[in-house]
Amino acid sequence: MKKKPVIGITGAYVEHTRHMKGVYVHQDYHQAVLAAGGIPIILPFNDSGNENAYIDLLDGIIFSGGEDIDPFFYHEQPHPQLGFVTPKRDAFELSLLKESLARELPILGICRGLQLINVAFGGTLIQDIPSVMERPIKHAQIIDRQEVVHEVLLEKESYLHNLWQLERLRVNSLHHQAIKKLGTGLSVAATSPADGIIEAIEHKDYPYLHALQWHPESMAVHCSFMQTLFADFITVASN
Ligand code: MN
Repeated sequence: MKKKPVIGITGAYVEHTRHMKGVYVHQDYHQAVLAAGGIPIILPFNDSGNENAYIDLLDGIIFSGGEDIDPFFYHEQPHPQLGFVTPKRDAFELSLLKESLARELPILGICRGLQLINVAFGGTLIQDIPSVMERPIKHAQIIDRQEVVHEVLLEKESYLHNLWQLERLRVNSLHHQAIKKLGTGLSVAATSPADGIIEAIEHKDYPYLHALQWHPESMAVHCSFMQTLFADFITVASN
């Protein structure tokens, strides 16, 4: 029997109590990977310089959601509404991404993961949508994460458009930051038509590099389109 692909998922930092601090991944990520036939493993950020060894273990990688990226990494000063940052996580993940790209590992970015990929390609971020944009819609939803709250428009001939054969769909939205300047070589795959926020990106010259501002892992429980996305990612990772 063919070996199931191993999918690394980067972790966020949480502090439950002073005795419980560490790396955290929402269960929806590993459940979506398992449901699609992959083996999820969590990648704890650290500065040991072992990014190569981590990538050796993997058939695919998910850059997950979490804290804001330190604006130092895109040469900006912190806006007053910037959220919690973990520069050690940023540095680890930028290094993992560089190594993943060098090996042509299939890469899926989710929420913060999309922002990280954009920064890695020289892009910048809107540090706080409500205080920086003129007429934004609400991107930081207040209902359960699996619920959809706003529409996205898929670019024709984008990977997502081709995969789903859809022009529009409604998605969840758990972010207060977004792409400002798009990174070099990246293409927009989806936008929020109401305010123009970039909701998905891809790299057309790279075998598999796709990133979404929404959370497909949380919609996957009841949305067949998001299940298809994970299924395709796992299929690519298997090859
Ligand atoms: Mn959104």
